[in-house]
Amino acid sequence: MLEYRPPEQDFEFLLFELFKVQEQWADIPAFADISEDITRAVLSEGGRMAAEVMAPLNQSGDEEGCTWLDGEVSTPPGFKAAYDEIAGGGWLGLSGNPDYEGQGMPKLLGCLLEEMFWGANSSLYLYGTLTTGASICIDNHGTEQQKATYLPKLYSGQWSGAMGLTESHAGTDLGIIRSRAVPAADGGYRISGTKIFITSGEHDLTENVVHLVLAKLPDAPAGSKGISLFIVPKFLVDEQGKVGERNGVVSGSLEHKMGIRGSATSVMNFDEAQGFIIGEPNRGLACMFTMMNYERLSVGLQGLGAGELAYQQAVRYARERLQGRSPTGPKNPDRDADSLLVHPDVRRMLLTIRALTEGGRAFAMFVGMQLDLGKYTGDEQAARFSELLTPIAKAFLSDRGFECAVMAQQVFGGHGYIREWGVEQIVRDTRIAQIYEGTNGVQALDLVGRKVLRDGGATLQELFDGFDLSTIDTCYREPLEKAFAGVIAATEHIVSRSAVDPALAGAISTDYLELVGYTLYGWFWARMARVAGEDAYGCAKQDCARFYFARLLPKVLGLEASVISESACVMALADEAF
Ligand SMILES: Cc1cc2nc3c(=O)[nH]c(=O)nc-3n(C[C@H](O)[C@H](O)[C@H](O)COP(=O)(O)OP(=O)(O)OC[C@H]3O[C@@H](n4cnc5c(N)ncnc54)[C@H](O)[C@@H]3O)c2cc1C
Repeated sequence: MLEYRPPEQDFEFLLFELFKVQEQWADIPAFADISEDITRAVLSEGGRMAAEVMAPLNQSGDEEGCTWLDGEVSTPPGFKAAYDEIAGGGWLGLSGNPDYEGQGMPKLLGCLLEEMFWGANSSLYLYGTLTTGASICIDNHGTEQQKATYLPKLYSGQWSGAMGLTESHAGTDLGIIRSRAVPAADGGYRISGTKIFITSGEHDLTENVVHLVLAKLPDAPAGSKGISLFIVPKFLVDEQGKVGERNGVVSGSLEHKMGIRGSATSVMNFDEAQGFIIGEPNRGLACMFTMMNYERLSVGLQGLGAGELAYQQAVRYARERLQGRSPTGPKNPDRDADSLLVHPDVRRMLLTIRALTEGGRAFAMFVGMQLDLGKYTGDEQAARFSELLTPIAKAFLSDRGFECAVMAQQVFGGHGYIREWGVEQIVRDTRIAQIYEGTNGVQALDLVGRKVLRDGGATLQELFDGFDLSTIDTCYREPLEKAFAGVIAATEHIVSRSAVDPALAGAISTDYLELVGYTLYGWFWARMARVAGEDAYGCAKQDCARFYFARLLPKVLGLEASVISESACVMALADEAF
């Protein structure tokens, strides 16, 4: 049985002691009124929602799945009532624009809430995250009328969002999509084509589904410079914002998949559906990236939530399961065996999950903070940091989340492989986070190609320059200095060699992203160790920090060596030899 408890103590430590958010928010007019009490109340109510409303439906949603009948999709029993409760609580508009009935709360706080919702029930939360992503895109690129029509309904959860990019022949390479948008006499467009893998494309949770769809105009230039973005509502909306006639968009079938089975993933057929352009013609991909960048951080948080959920199950099991004896002598002499917790290798696994999850949480909050600073104070440097860190947040958090899920499964031995305990579901549900919203390989390419090579590593250097090593304990300074130096050396290598070795960036990008990720976690672990107190919680933080520096940070040495190489070792093997 999967059980989920919000990690409240860690949240409070990070918010009020590590990041001292109240001091920061006091300087941002939009957040100045958010007191510590309000912050605690939001987290506590969000935690209740996650633990009491969402988590109890996690395993049943997986067992029951979604069903399709003649274009209509039914979600698992209980999802509709739970979704109504999430929507009614205002959770979908938490960081939304207050001018359109959003609540304007900081993204940093939103990160913690999202982590809980993902951890409690990733399938159910997917309906929410696509809705939030769609509202961010419309808020940034829509007309006043589009904002007024769609945002309040999306924030309230009355309508939901979906994102229509992928076609059967076009996933990563969106430049070759075939969906067409033909201008109509009424000033709108008629959209035709088939999209696959559309999360929340059709379901029974909301009155309307607002599809954001990529398509090409008749005279569009070839490739990614010829893509436009359209709002295609399932039901057309009249001037008073009421839903009316059914639009030409239907679910052709549901995809049968490995995990997130409570999330409806549809093939969507658009047949001369009425569409309304967002932003400029042929500039749709840039607008869609606003939605995707939000979704990318969110998918990273999916990995983080999974890591926390996995940790909680594995610790509970390791305490209860009796197998073998401690290497330092029996700990439980009155029973046949000691608990799994006595075994160093089991402890290694539990500590790895915990160190990656708590380090990842601090990192995710830092990214959220950069997004807030960029958006609400116009801090140009923070905006650049958030762009740099977004692919790392998506890929590193989701890769580590999956690793943690598998490690937790390993703690269960054979019991982790059978369904009863639920831990195999965490593995299945988390795997997708490494694939959708741009595969993690593509995130690594984005980091190296777009973010690092573009400015020769200058933004990364600025980020590291802001980490003041005098604010961490001396025992962590030297290894961290070496890790920073390793990242800079690897960056210089890529910058200097890419011109003569064009395949280099792609050949080393995944290792480079991991190198940066482990180094950044090192910074946050060192800072957490400095700030943690002397109580039981603080001592545990210190122990985890020591574990991170002794056992996980050294991975950067291997990664650095692997990045400082040429592409030939990857490219030499002839295609026919594979
Ligand atoms: C459950 C689920 C839900 C989804 N939800 C949505 C949704 O709501 N909306 C939507 O539009 N899509 C959605 N997707 C689609 C998802 O985003 C794509 O599957 C993903 O982006 C990868 O595209 P692809 O499957 O076509 O793989 P491909 O693009 O064919 O890639 C295959 C492999 O090749 C690699 N690769 C491809 N191109 C390059 C390159 N240029 N350089 C290096 N490596 C490359 C990839 O990293 C990958 O490992 C969903 C998919 C699933 C499975």
